[in-house]
Amino acid sequence: MSSETRRRYPLDEARHPWLTRLLNAYHISDMATREDLARETALRGTPPACRAGCSVCCTSQVIPVTAFEIMGIFWYVSEIMDEAEQAVVRANLHAHRPEDGQPACPFLSRAGACSVYPVRPFICRQHHVFGEPCRLGENLREERPRDVFNSAHDRAREMAWELFPLFGVGEDDIDWRFESGYMSGRSRDLHSLPLWNIITHMDAAARRKQADNAGTSAHS
Ligand code: SF4
Ligand code: SF4
Repeated sequence: MSSETRRRYPLDEARHPWLTRLLNAYHISDMATREDLARETALRGTPPACRAGCSVCCTSQVIPVTAFEIMGIFWYVSEIMDEAEQAVVRANLHAHRPEDGQPACPFLSRAGACSVYPVRPFICRQHHVFGEPCRLGENLREERPRDVFNSAHDRAREMAWELFPLFGVGEDDIDWRFESGYMSGRSRDLHSLPLWNIITHMDAAARRKQADNAGTSAHS
């Protein structure tokens, strides 16, 4: 369940100003999603099938992401995750072979949970299914398109005002670029990205934290 107030990471946000805008946009998306799902549930008389541990949508799917969504994941895995969770992500990344087809998302935990939940991409926040939970290999858009529900459309422009400046878009240009589908032209499938670089980031962050800790002990 989304919180009314957005999670804050003051030190990290001070170091990475893009992170504040990304987290703001995610928060707008989550608040809009909450309202949209409540309305849709009332209309249909039943809640969505989506629930914790249901993770077919995290396997065998294209996951469109923009540069800052993937940067959010790099940051979270390297700086926030504990070592046990990082070990699972490392193992998943080593096993990740999209060229062999049908890969699972490398951020799916062994328990079927999202290990990067606070920074999961927009598609993972906004895609919902009513009726039966998804089955592996099912083509939802062909077989039961009425069960697919994508949330937060009405506040997409607000999200654009947070995100487009990160791509160098000036304020005067945001509205017309939004209307011409600027963001979808900037998305790539998560599976096609050099995700193994996350391991390098994890190692660098661990070395930096070790050095910081050593410095703190030396001065105490
Ligand atoms: S989209 Fe499908 S697989 Fe994913 S949580 Fe919802 S019902 Fe489960
Ligand atoms: S980022 Fe999380 S929610 Fe999205 S596909 Fe991967 S495991 Fe699933």
